[in-house]
Amino acid sequence: MKQGPRLEMIQENMKPGAYTAHGFLGDDDRMLKDILREDNSAVERHGISHGEIAAKMRYFTEIGRRFPESTVTDGDFEITVDDHRGFIPCPFADNEKALKTNTRLYNKRTGETVYWSDLNIHMIMSHGFYEGKGSFFRTGPVELAKTLGLID
Ligand SMILES: [Zn+2]
Repeated sequence: MKQGPRLEMIQENMKPGAYTAHGFLGDDDRMLKDILREDNSAVERHGISHGEIAAKMRYFTEIGRRFPESTVTDGDFEITVDDHRGFIPCPFADNEKALKTNTRLYNKRTGETVYWSDLNIHMIMSHGFYEGKGSFFRTGPVELAKTLGLID
């Protein structure tokens, strides 16, 4: 089934060269509504929420931001936040802008590392969007929740 004109417009914003050089979709050729629905079902199946995932991301980013460009340890986690300036607009066209800051999180217990931008935190919190498959910043919600220590 086709998706509505609003999601169609947002998906255009996500293509390479629109809002960012690489866009938000990677090499994922699914419709945005299907990307959102599949990630949402995965989150529900594990009994967690986009809000919980985004809140934990924000928690680590705030810790790392106290010492930009340094690695900060918090329990089993190592956090590094870079010091980019400038803002990037949300492709969902809701007038949200996020700092261009990036966070790297290493989970010593699982050996996994994940990356996200401040915009990813907003897009997960407000839109349940984790980017398309093959996109640099995409980590699927289940893998992300595991690395964040929310689920086993
Ligand atoms: Zn937004």
